[in-house]
Amino acid sequence: MRAVIISDIHANLEALEAVLAAIEGETFDRLLILGDLVGYGAAPVEVMERLSAWPGPMDWIRGNHDKAVAGIDRAEDFNLLAQVSLRWTRQQLSEDQLDTLRALPQGPVSLDGVGVLCHGAPFDEDTYVFSPLEAAMSFEFTPAPLIFFGHTHVACMFVETEDDVLGYGLEGDEGELEIDPSRRYLINPGSVGQPRDGDPRAAYIVFDGERKSVAWHRVEYDVPGAQRRILEAGLPKMLADRLAVGG
Ligand code: ZN
Repeated sequence: MRAVIISDIHANLEALEAVLAAIEGETFDRLLILGDLVGYGAAPVEVMERLSAWPGPMDWIRGNHDKAVAGIDRAEDFNLLAQVSLRWTRQQLSEDQLDTLRALPQGPVSLDGVGVLCHGAPFDEDTYVFSPLEAAMSFEFTPAPLIFFGHTHVACMFVETEDDVLGYGLEGDEGELEIDPSRRYLINPGSVGQPRDGDPRAAYIVFDGERKSVAWHRVEYDVPGAQRRILEAGLPKMLADRLAVGG
């Protein structure tokens, strides 16, 4: 299987378009989306339309923002920025789009013979996996050899060795990991629409089951365009500002 894996699009159409343009012409068996399609950004309708129109097979799971917008979660732990964007997003989406969000499966979802997809941790979709400790708990929870996750907006991976769990950032324009079948991996593609790892470019990865590799990529996108859209929607300026710094 060859799959393109994206996460945390956060209603950023400009960033999503840049990723889709970057992979145009390549062949994939699947598109895998690790949640948070909407929230924060100002193009939830367009992003939902674009993703729903993906021409090939696709697996997607819900993120905490999708859940909150869909009314599944009361989002009491959301900060003020997230609350404002949640209310605004809910007003924009059609009933059909809200139904689509409501129907998104909860992770972990298993991907036959490959591994699992989750938004936060495999043991709890809302838990952030930032440290080797949370990574170790994740490895303990599932025997899956590969765990793809999002939620932190940080492109990174954790590797389970005989006696330790090691974390690495997926840095630079692109790079490739050769999968060692004797190890297990937790891999976060990073965020398409609101990176928080200091690199403002949109992030995605390509998993290739035949080559046993995971390649990561960062692509420039029209940040001013996405910022303008946020300001014109009357959303908090901070949501626009942070896109420029990837923080
Ligand atoms: Zn997110």
